[in-house]
Amino acid sequence: MQTVDVLVVGAGLAGLHTARLLAQQDLTVSVVDRRRSLSSGIRTTGIFVRRTLDDFDLPDRFLGPAIRDVLLYPPSRQFPIRLSSDRDEYRVADMPGLYQHAHHAARSAGAQIRLGVRYDNASHGVVRFAGASPVKARFIIGADGAYSRVARDLNLDVNRRFLVGAEIVHPIATGTTTPAFHCVVDPRIAPGYLGWVIDDGLHAHVGIAGYPHAMRTGIRHLLDRFAADAPGRAAPTGPVERRGGPIPVGGVLRRLANPAGLLVGDAAGAVSPLTAGGLDPCLRLSELAATVTAAYLRSGDPSILRHYDGQALRARFRGRLLLRRLFAGVRSPAAAEAAVTLLRGRTGRALATRILFGDGSFPDIGPEPVLARA
Ligand SMILES: Cc1cc2nc3c(=O)[nH]c(=O)nc-3n(C[C@H](O)[C@H](O)[C@H](O)COP(=O)(O)OP(=O)(O)OC[C@H]3O[C@@H](n4cnc5c(N)ncnc54)[C@H](O)[C@@H]3O)c2cc1C
Repeated sequence: MQTVDVLVVGAGLAGLHTARLLAQQDLTVSVVDRRRSLSSGIRTTGIFVRRTLDDFDLPDRFLGPAIRDVLLYPPSRQFPIRLSSDRDEYRVADMPGLYQHAHHAARSAGAQIRLGVRYDNASHGVVRFAGASPVKARFIIGADGAYSRVARDLNLDVNRRFLVGAEIVHPIATGTTTPAFHCVVDPRIAPGYLGWVIDDGLHAHVGIAGYPHAMRTGIRHLLDRFAADAPGRAAPTGPVERRGGPIPVGGVLRRLANPAGLLVGDAAGAVSPLTAGGLDPCLRLSELAATVTAAYLRSGDPSILRHYDGQALRARFRGRLLLRRLFAGVRSPAAAEAAVTLLRGRTGRALATRILFGDGSFPDIGPEPVLARA
């Protein structure tokens, strides 16, 4: 049986980033993903915020033009609030390209990556797959998304609160639109979240997300209804792709690690409960996960795992969890109109600016205390 130091389940951004960092530390790392190709089954719009672009080395060639303007619409779609930043706030990534790049980077660092391999279960360090030989692993990393099986098998916490999101993506005629992020607050189509059109001048992403129990006619039907006259949408000039998936919004889980393994990315609930952004959190948490894992495997000291503490991270999400509850409470078009009216005032605009252009999507979690111990 093959033996590795670390088995990573999931080759999303969290899994690939963690695998690369661990392989760079001379650990033997194997990654499996049930997807046969990283260009298929994409579950993200791929909007990266300024803070991520500043802090992580994402290749420019996979990032679309910068966006500085956000328009917030009430259900009536009348008189949107325009918020403009003097900085480049968002860039939408070519996600197939970015996944390929992360795959290549992890492989170049020495990680073995096997696609088309489905994780089945793990016990006593033996990891089993559907249709592939088992592997013995000193440590297992669950980067297997919002409905993590690894979390269950390792007896770690699991996500319980979800939004579900879906979008269509297509190329548009260049030079015909002004790049902008259009957000529609309308509980009839996106209960508990937003409908969005993001146009960076090259592609349009038209999507909705909301609480699944409140989307009685189904998300596909609601998305098609929204897309039919979504504000700011330009006509497709090429193939229309569909994406979608669950978004955990209950905040970072409390129990994220034990001597058998740990969780990263959506599996760890590392998504901003308010904005539902998970790309920055998955990169940031992966850095801490890799530092803690390497220090633990080098020393064999399980107390090092205490540095990977969901409870401590969670405490820094109180405000966002509260705002998520308020957002979830906007259930009628009239309440949504009133909420957008509140945002038109000075305090409301300041709050919206802070949420949309601020630096607080996920706490900074430096690895220094872990390194000091190891
Ligand atoms: C519609 C939508 C739009 C979004 N847009 C944005 C956005 O614009 N910006 C932003 O910041 N966040 C966005 N998010 C959230 C963000 O995309 C996620 O938080 C982030 O991609 C999580 O990365 P991950 O690596 O943890 O999980 P994933 O990318 O979900 O990767 C998990 C991987 O595990 C694999 N896997 C699962 N089970 C198994 C198994 N049993 N065996 C083997 N492999 C398995 C899957 O195939 C998958 O490749 C969006 C989410 C959705 C649903």
